[in-house]
Amino acid sequence: MWDPSEELAALRAADLYRQPRRIDVAGPTEAWVDGRRCTVFCSNDYLGLAQHPSVVEAFTAAAQRDGVGSGAAHLITGHRREHEALEEELAEFLGRDRVLLFSTGYMANMGVIDALASSGDGVFQDRLNHASLLDGARLSGAKRIRYRHADAEHLRMRLGAEAVARRLVVTDGVFSMDGDLAPLPAISQLAAEHDATLIVDDAHGIGVIGKQGRGVLEYYGLAQQQVPLLIGTLGKGLGTFGAFVAGPAPVVEYLVQKARTFMFTTAQPPAVAAATRASLQLVRTESWRRDKLQTLIARFRRGAEQLGLPLMASQTPIQPLLVGEAQRALRLGEQLMAAGMLVTPIRPPTVPPGSARLRITFSAEHSEEQVDRLLDAFERLKLADSA
Ligand SMILES: *Cc1c(COP(=O)(O)O)cnc(C)c1O
Repeated sequence: MWDPSEELAALRAADLYRQPRRIDVAGPTEAWVDGRRCTVFCSNDYLGLAQHPSVVEAFTAAAQRDGVGSGAAHLITGHRREHEALEEELAEFLGRDRVLLFSTGYMANMGVIDALASSGDGVFQDRLNHASLLDGARLSGAKRIRYRHADAEHLRMRLGAEAVARRLVVTDGVFSMDGDLAPLPAISQLAAEHDATLIVDDAHGIGVIGKQGRGVLEYYGLAQQQVPLLIGTLGKGLGTFGAFVAGPAPVVEYLVQKARTFMFTTAQPPAVAAATRASLQLVRTESWRRDKLQTLIARFRRGAEQLGLPLMASQTPIQPLLVGEAQRALRLGEQLMAAGMLVTPIRPPTVPPGSARLRITFSAEHSEEQVDRLLDAFERLKLADSA
């Protein structure tokens, strides 16, 4: 049998070795890690809904009624009342014809791109797109074409230069490791001009961005006509689990027939869909959560600027500090941990080599005092001086 020890040793030597860390939840923003209580600044539960009592109650009530496992894929016996209701409510919330649930965002991205492109076609992607979008293009067998990050002009050149049959343009809405937004008005214009199908993965925008929480498309005022396919995960802003694709009814109908990661996987537990319905209700009614996030983000950025920290150009709850080498990111992560702040360092291949960072994220359940304590910790670490 092949022995991976050399490869593993090489990863360790390059400071790229990864290990899951056990987190014991101690509240919406607090956890126990290695026997130490700390404040968590790296969860994607942006609205603080993962532990919300009404979400938990919807989950447990549905589990009592429907059981836990869905028992099969949607096209066999896995499709339940809670799934159907959630699909309808999401479609209504997002202002789209139809929604199809997937079991995870990773699967949604793989399944949608693989279904809509094949050899002879071209998939155009932002260089910083999420791994699942890149893998979807790889799986599809289509030609893979990358354009410079958030650079619509470069996309225009790429679209003009490639002779392919069908064109898909694919981008994150909010970039997951940078926190900035794709220039969607320009990109949707280009997609229309080149008869390309535009797919936006708004994993970090749904629930969080836009006045009503409908994501980056609401922020830019773009409708289904400009951006036909919208993909989102339910595991981040909505605080639960699963994912969806929203778009024109015929395309969604086609995905039911062709998206293999929809067809050949177990439907998410109906109780999870019930929990998401409760959390969607909170997204709609508790806009204070989005306002609170903006207050925390502004407070953090103001403080970080005063300290001279290496902030990135982000107005979203993703506020990375660029530190460069993986080793340095690891060391800073450990020092923050010792100060009772959990911020997971992000290293290659999640981000390009030399751009390791501390990816700080905020939740509506954080307090201003917690933000101040994080800033204090950075001040003591003298991150600015050694940058
Ligand atoms: C997290 C993420 C995904 C994957 O979603 P899961 O539901 O966690 O599988 C897809 N795209 C982007 C941009 C993400 O950040």
